[in-house]
Amino acid sequence: MRRRNFLKKTMLGTAGLSVSGSLTLCSDTSLSSPGKPAIFGGNPVRTDPFLSWPVIQENDEKAWMQVLQAKKWFRMEGDYVKQFEKEFSRLMGSKDCLATANGTSSLLTSLNALGVGPGDEVIVPPYTFVATINVVLLQYALPIFVDTDPTTFQIDAQKLEGAITERTRCIIPVHLGGSSADLDTILKIAARHKLPVIEDACQAHLGEWRSKRLGTWGDAGCFSFQVSKNLSSGEGGAIISDNLELIDRCFSFHSNGAERKRSPGFSYHGKGTNVRMTEFQGALLLQQMTRLEEQSHLREQNAAYLTEQLKQIPGIHPAKSYAGCTRNAYHLYMFRYDQAQFAGLSRDRFVKALGAEGIPCSRGYSPLNKEPFLKSTLNSRGYLAVYPRERIDRYFKNNDCPENDRLCQEAGWFTQNMLLGTRSDMDQIAEAIRKLSHHAGDLAGG
Ligand SMILES: *Cc1c(COP(=O)(O)O)cnc(C)c1O
Repeated sequence: MRRRNFLKKTMLGTAGLSVSGSLTLCSDTSLSSPGKPAIFGGNPVRTDPFLSWPVIQENDEKAWMQVLQAKKWFRMEGDYVKQFEKEFSRLMGSKDCLATANGTSSLLTSLNALGVGPGDEVIVPPYTFVATINVVLLQYALPIFVDTDPTTFQIDAQKLEGAITERTRCIIPVHLGGSSADLDTILKIAARHKLPVIEDACQAHLGEWRSKRLGTWGDAGCFSFQVSKNLSSGEGGAIISDNLELIDRCFSFHSNGAERKRSPGFSYHGKGTNVRMTEFQGALLLQQMTRLEEQSHLREQNAAYLTEQLKQIPGIHPAKSYAGCTRNAYHLYMFRYDQAQFAGLSRDRFVKALGAEGIPCSRGYSPLNKEPFLKSTLNSRGYLAVYPRERIDRYFKNNDCPENDRLCQEAGWFTQNMLLGTRSDMDQIAEAIRKLSHHAGDLAGG
């Protein structure tokens, strides 16, 4: 207990240091005449790194050692994974939960439990991590891309119904960045066509739609605990659902077809794989979970503060959330960059110059519907055994997502750990962007 308090204080102490550091900086550099851009050899706005992620404390270390020394490393022998499933269900407000090896396998397991397979079409956004598409391809199904709403970065639910055919078997909305897809519209369309919905909530731990957790609205909600995610055990995943029978089927698939409540001996329900979570992951997640609420709250506060500042800079458009999104998990802080407002300075050079100022910024995803691997996969021997060539050719003729193409050219992201610092961290992000805005002409020319 004492050690924990100490660690907390040390964290705050470090944060306190950067507050005073930035105050000096502010009084030195008047906003009207920011110094030379760091990319031209000027002083960077920031030299401290942002908060290092993942955050570890003494209880993490203890939990890990307990598993190690008890020699119960396998979920069937220990209690940590089962306990984590119970706690995660409770935190999410779902009836049941299955822990898995990672987020990709939670999606793959859900698709299998719903019987999605060769010949089926699955509706997906083009703006997501590639895993959302890969799980569809692994089932020899066709990923049908619906264009992105560039103001929110989410799948454009208004265009969803037009993509449904008699072959559609499932809809996978992704809650990009921790904000929410337009669930009201998506669930209404899904109900009208009797289609199951798997929410890809891999970036959306504790995010909410109408004050109810993301991941609890569809038939299943999938989470990732990969190290970059807001809740992490290096690798890890979970499926939540109110449908106990669906989770039973997920269990079976995730453990080589075995029955969930195993009777003595071996009996198999169907084909499966092994994507079980280890006790190490379960024990670590139980500890990491105790900090999730506090960290999420801090991200929300810092993100709101940052948005107020960035909104005032011409050419920076922070991603908006739909009115129904009552809580954004802020796995990513996403914005659009309009180079016309920055004297024609390209997005890529803007990102580079921002990095030189000590503010790491990502350019985000590239358009998945245009990936060369998609073409080669759909033209592979396996795919052509399932689909007539004419179907594959028609697929690529109707595969454009122009809004998404533009968004991929304009996007910028800050990662979630950058939102776990102080207000002065946010001030420095804004200050660096204002500085680049001030020198945009030179930067575009140079
Ligand atoms: C991280 C992520 C996944 C995959 O999770 P892993 O744990 O890395 O397998 C899937 N979808 C989205 C949107 C993600 O961000």
